[in-house]
Amino acid sequence: MTVEFICVGTELLLGNIVNTNAAYLSEKCAGLGLSCYFQTVVGDNAQRLAMVLKTAMERSDIVILSGGLGPTEDDLTKEVAAEVCGRKLLMHESSRKSIARFFEERGMVPTENNWKQAMMPEDAVILENHNGTAPGAIIETETARVILLPGPPNELYPLFEESVEPYLRGLTPQVICSQTVKICGLGESKVETMVKDLIDGQTNPTIATYAKTGEVHIRVTAAAEDTKAANKCIKPMVKELKARFGNDIYTTEEDVTLEKAVTDLLLANDLSLTCAESCTGGLLSGRLVNVPGVSEVYKSGYITYSNKAKRKLLGVKKATLQKYGAVSAQVAEEMAKGAALFAKTDVSVAVTGIAGPDGGTEEKPVGLVYIACCVKGKTTVKKYQFGGNRSKVRESAVSAALSLMRGCMLEYFSKVTFGKKD
Ligand code: ATP
Repeated sequence: MTVEFICVGTELLLGNIVNTNAAYLSEKCAGLGLSCYFQTVVGDNAQRLAMVLKTAMERSDIVILSGGLGPTEDDLTKEVAAEVCGRKLLMHESSRKSIARFFEERGMVPTENNWKQAMMPEDAVILENHNGTAPGAIIETETARVILLPGPPNELYPLFEESVEPYLRGLTPQVICSQTVKICGLGESKVETMVKDLIDGQTNPTIATYAKTGEVHIRVTAAAEDTKAANKCIKPMVKELKARFGNDIYTTEEDVTLEKAVTDLLLANDLSLTCAESCTGGLLSGRLVNVPGVSEVYKSGYITYSNKAKRKLLGVKKATLQKYGAVSAQVAEEMAKGAALFAKTDVSVAVTGIAGPDGGTEEKPVGLVYIACCVKGKTTVKKYQFGGNRSKVRESAVSAALSLMRGCMLEYFSKVTFGKKD
């Protein structure tokens, strides 16, 4: 089955907002085993929207539209879809009541145009929106299934997961299941090379690689008559990937992030943590603090942007700063050691680098970052050269710091386990 997306909004065409709905829908539908060959962005214009919708309905089995379901004049997706599908718009009583309740609960009075949102295409399946006033709808025609969803992601995502996903699953006799193998510390091309033979020979399950900042995810997807059979099909492939990537895989669970994997390692081994951040300026701590339960291990951290702060708060030596500069392996090491000492933690990680756009030299270009990790007194320092703009460099440094921490802890545990203590 094929699916196609039409994202409606002049703001999207002007670049005022990024089309994250398309990325979300693409990933979701790929996971359901639907093939997507076309995506369109169209402005708030009835004629042009009708034109792209007609074309989409001719060439795809399912057409998903996002945006333009609001109460204002330029929200015209529903009107256009109803016309193209040859349906009237009728007042949908339960949606009308939901809108009335939505406003009542917030102590607000609806305006006349709010009721426009309760006018729904005749014979459509109405999808209740628990996070906004615009309901979604599914119009089934002879040529295609047209699905209308609200634009705001905080409305579209839950509506898709609650109502559209089960509907799409019901359309195919087969069940599609997938599992993601998440790898850190290796680049995408390295990962792809290591699985090239598997990709070339794939049938069922299929595998696909996705590059993320500092990580690569491999999605293994299988189609089968039921979930049990699909999972059985996935299992040997995941086993093969584990054999190839070993410890570079930090999880095979969907909801585990790299920061969660690191936090879980600290928690499981009763290790405390501190971070000393220069160029990442708290970004690393921010990512760690996103993990519920991290307070058990992460007590305090340091943002030491200036040389003075590095000296005063972390005990970095003036001579080291003068001899090697703030962005150097030596300073990263002293930062990590000082942080562990002053915060009295088992593990510390320090980041110093040049995020740019200024401050780079031939010898020390923008994107140069040193990260040091100290586990129970043993310090490892690594040099990185990241590409991209300031925020990309900082994000890459955070991911690299998490990977390095994980690697250093695993190394420490392996030595402890085998009794080869330093
Ligand atoms: P509303 O009831 O809020 O008017 P709507 O269904 O009419 O919802 P739009 O008016 O098209 O949706 O968009 C509302 C907001 O939703 C946009 O300002 C934008 O923030 C977000 N949005 C819309 N489309 C997208 C998209 N494709 N990707 C990401 N965000 C989007």
